[in-house]
Amino acid sequence: GQGDVHGEVVVLGSGPGGYSAAFRAADLGKKVVMIERNSTLGGVCLNVGCIPSKALLHVAKVITEADEMGAHGIAFGKPKIDLDELRDFKDGVVGKLAGGLDGLAKGRKVQVVRGVGKFTGPNMIAVEGPEGTTRVSFDQCIIAAGSEPVELPFIPHDDPRVVDSTGALELLDIPKRMLVLGGGIIGLEMACVYDALGSKITVVELMDQIIPGADKDLVKPLMNRIKGRYENIFLKTKVTGMEAQKKGLKVTFEDDKGETFTDTFDKVLVAVGRKPNGKLIDAEKAGVAVDERGFIAVDAFQRTGQSHIYAIGDVVGQPMLAHKAVHEGKVAAEVAAGEKRAFDARVIPSVAYTDPEVAWCGLTEEQAKAQGIKVEKGVFPWAASGRSLSNGRSEGMTKLLFDPEDDRVVGGAIVGTNAGDLISEVALAIEMGADAVDLGHTIHPHPTLSETVNFAAEMFEGTITDLM
Ligand code: FAD
Repeated sequence: GQGDVHGEVVVLGSGPGGYSAAFRAADLGKKVVMIERNSTLGGVCLNVGCIPSKALLHVAKVITEADEMGAHGIAFGKPKIDLDELRDFKDGVVGKLAGGLDGLAKGRKVQVVRGVGKFTGPNMIAVEGPEGTTRVSFDQCIIAAGSEPVELPFIPHDDPRVVDSTGALELLDIPKRMLVLGGGIIGLEMACVYDALGSKITVVELMDQIIPGADKDLVKPLMNRIKGRYENIFLKTKVTGMEAQKKGLKVTFEDDKGETFTDTFDKVLVAVGRKPNGKLIDAEKAGVAVDERGFIAVDAFQRTGQSHIYAIGDVVGQPMLAHKAVHEGKVAAEVAAGEKRAFDARVIPSVAYTDPEVAWCGLTEEQAKAQGIKVEKGVFPWAASGRSLSNGRSEGMTKLLFDPEDDRVVGGAIVGTNAGDLISEVALAIEMGADAVDLGHTIHPHPTLSETVNFAAEMFEGTITDLM
């Protein structure tokens, strides 16, 4: 083994939550040990999540933009795709960032112990690594064990043609016909990539809309676009069976009227959600409660029921997003170092990096309705934005929700190109308690997509004059 080691703060897991916590605790003077079972740091987000998916989505965007230039008199012809080089590009991006994390850990003298860690007591984790067992003792511990894809019992997950997001990101081939099981963010992002690369896509979703959780009007422009590009989008439909045959995966669907039908695909991406890793770490040996789904409950200080053990990121609950994990990691580290800090963020933005992108933060109209909260809205359709028309992509929309009492912004949603970057202004507005006049009187650069936030506030105020 690596010998017994002690950390004042021990972090279990090196994803965005874990490394943020470890680096912050080290910066605050703590002796930090970080435990990771993978050969590289960075967790799901860096290795098989946010980053490789965005590298491929960038490529998808270039392909489809080049293709659509045909309508404006610029023809590029059919792209020649070299999958090996494309994979190298994606792996290179991940490798560079992983190397960066190694450097950041070394620079702060954060000791990394490789192997699978499990609690053996309230102040001890045993790590099974390639060279044996290391006993890691701690004064305080931050659990950042993350999550993994949910599998479905009736699906032949051992068939190589059935993949999860990790398998889809490996980009082993470009299937002719691909089924994306699950119309959430992860499934739709990968659908976008494979569609651009030339696969014929079918999406199946149990709920009555794609990206359940986002407002229906927000998702509509995305739905309209992919309806025109994909072979099929089945809503209110479930997959009830899957049979591995020589010629493909024969899938049985059942719609909301109970009618069944089948189709055969070359590849199936299962993207039906992620489950927390809380059950895999023997948390009960440290007295930390894990619920039946594998989540670990925490208070506003990120503390579990054991006040010296914290938990952060995907393992503590929804939304399972990297920026939430990072924020919680910093809170846990600062509390562990004795600082006055708590998780009190008003909003956590959500983004689907699809084409077009879908982004929202704060209250949605659906939530406001369900919770009986009165809101008023300002909506700006991008068809009246000079910039989106210039981009040839005017299907977007920017929507702001206001508290009718004081006109403060309580929610915002944007669909359109770059919506993911644009939503941050709304997040800041909500955190700062900004109202419609604040957004309406802030001079935005013209012509930009960011102006649409300003225009949506003016639509609400009734002061808009400068359409286009
Ligand atoms: P993780 O990143 O899951 O890291 C946990 C780490 O702990 C892992 O490295 C794991 O190996 C390690 N570990 C677990 N148990 C043990 C153990 N017992 N011993 C040792 N090590 C252990 N989020 C976004 O915000 N934006 C995106 O664009 C985005 N895109 C995504 C795309 C895909 C395809 C996927 C799958 C996810 C995406 N996410 C995205 C979600 C994001 O990846 C997660 O929210 C984020 O990684 C959670 O961070 P974390 O630190 O909680 O855990």
